[in-house]
Order: sequence, then structure tokens, then C-alpha cells
Amino acid sequence: MQEHMLQQLIDSLHKQYSKNEEGEVATYIPELGKADPDLFGICLATKDGRIFETGDSDQRFTIQSISKPFTYGMALEVLGQEKVSRHVGVEPSGDAFNSIELESGTNRPYNPMVNAGAITVSSLLYNHYGDEALEIMLERFSAAAGRRLSVDEEVYKSEARTGHRNRAIAHLLLNFGMVFENIEPALDLYFKQCSILVNCRDLAIMSATLSNLGKNPVTGEDVYDISCVKDMLSIMLTCGMYDYSGQWAYRVGIPAKSGVSGGVMASVNRQLGLASYSPKLDARGNSCRGIDVCVSLANELGLHAFDCMNIGSSYLKTILEQ
Ligand code: GLN
Repeated sequence: MQEHMLQQLIDSLHKQYSKNEEGEVATYIPELGKADPDLFGICLATKDGRIFETGDSDQRFTIQSISKPFTYGMALEVLGQEKVSRHVGVEPSGDAFNSIELESGTNRPYNPMVNAGAITVSSLLYNHYGDEALEIMLERFSAAAGRRLSVDEEVYKSEARTGHRNRAIAHLLLNFGMVFENIEPALDLYFKQCSILVNCRDLAIMSATLSNLGKNPVTGEDVYDISCVKDMLSIMLTCGMYDYSGQWAYRVGIPAKSGVSGGVMASVNRQLGLASYSPKLDARGNSCRGIDVCVSLANELGLHAFDCMNIGSSYLKTILEQ
């Protein structure tokens, strides 16, 4: 039987972009600097639970900032949009993910995809759940991935030991009353959530769970409330790729999130989740090969939200019916 067109496509993109040697492995979290720069995996998970994968799609790495939309969704579910929006905004910052700045006037972090916003969300979750917060988070992330996930202790310890910039951000947030007094356990929760281990397949399924309106397409489990998924995807589209988000919306046009260990995840509305892993990053902290893969997939499959081939997602629908 002939291989599915999506398998052929990701195999060929993997071959093509393995040659891209641009970028640097992140080293500001010392443990991340040990990653093999040649690793490269791609995975697609469809809304009917099919998986297409290639390269190092089994390789585990820490989720880092890709955790941010998932914790934001959890906060929205338990606290509601109004309360969460008193603590964190929804505007792209136009600045680096770890910039030490807040929105003028409100003193809120710009959005939940930059560190300041994500630390605030972790503080909201810690305040709500207390010491149970990590386990509840792990259960939710695991339900989205369809298997039990765990924390990489070495990466966690490495970031907890060296995360002075994030501590500075947390204290600035405390100064403006955006986070709660007990900031150390909230920061600890943030460092642990960033150190949750995933592989490309996990991320593709987590992403497909969002595309599939909150239901994991492989296990059939309802993981996120439909109304929160809309907010999670909107923020990913406008802020998920940091200060590259404008260009991303222009060139790729799919809600996405990247992380400093080299993961990129993107969600094609009601169709599929895609994920890539390659540790070499550009100056903005996005995986170089990950961007290549997403740009090519968007072009080849007409995935951009406003692509003329994507009218009613009919082109992709035809491919998925194969
Ligand atoms: N843990 C990282 C940090 O807070 C996450 C950043 C990222 O992936 N962009 O610095």
C-alpha cells in the first residue's frame, strides 16, 4: 500500500530541513545546553486520532514555554475569564519572552505566553490548589497527551538554581500585587511545569486536543472546556511565538507555541495538531527547524487560517479522508 501523503510530506520535510544548521542550543538553563543539536523530530496527530511521525519523534525533552497555554486554560477554567484578566492581559508584548516589563496603566503582564504572564498564572494556580497544584497540572497535561507525564528533575533543579531573572520578574509582579505573597512555591511550580518531559508525539496529541475542541482525539477523553480552548488558541495565535508572533500570523497563520528546549506545537482548527523538536534556536528563542517545518506545512497544505485553499478546510479534509 502506498504511504499516506502526510507521511511522505513530513519525511521529505525532515530530510530537507536536517540540512539547516542555523541557530544555537539554549544554555541559560545550564542543563538544556547538554542537548544534542542534531536531534530532529516531527509528528502530526489528526482529529480522528491518527499519528504520522518521523525522525526523533520519541526523543524526550522538557516542555518549557509550551506549558503556558495549558496552564492558562486551567486558570481560566477554575477562576473564570474575568478574574484571570485582572491579573494578566491579552496583548502581544512585542518584546522578548523573558523581558522585565508590565503593561503601563494596569501593571499586568502583557499576556500569559511571556514569562511574567505565565509566572502570574502559576501563582494563581498555586493560590487556588496549594501544594496539590503540580499533581493536578501533571494529571491535566497527561490527559491531553494520553499518557502519564513526569518532571525532569535535573532540568528543574538547573532552572531553580539559576532562574534569577524569573525571580526578579516574580518580585516585580509582587510589588504591583499581581501575584500572591508566597511567591517562592509559585515560582517552584513554574519551574516544575517548564520541566515536564514530553516527546513530539505527546505534543502533537496535546495540540490536537486543542484543535479538537478540548477532547483528546486518541483517548476520547474530554480534557479542556470548550470555552477555554477558544481563549487558549486565540492567545497562541497572537502571542505564542513571542516577538515573532506578527510574522508568524502572517506567514503561518495557525495558533502555535514554542519553548526554549526546541519544541514547537501548532493547532490547526478542528483538523490536526502538529509538533516539531529540534534544539537549535534563533535569536528570539524559537526552534529554527521548527519554524521551517511549520511554514512549509502551512504552505503545502493550505493551513493558514485565511489561505484560499483552506476554505472550510476542504483541502485538508480531502487529505485526511485518504
Ligand atoms: N523555563 C523557561 C524560562 O522561564 C521557559 C522559557 C521558554 O521556553 N521560552 O525561562
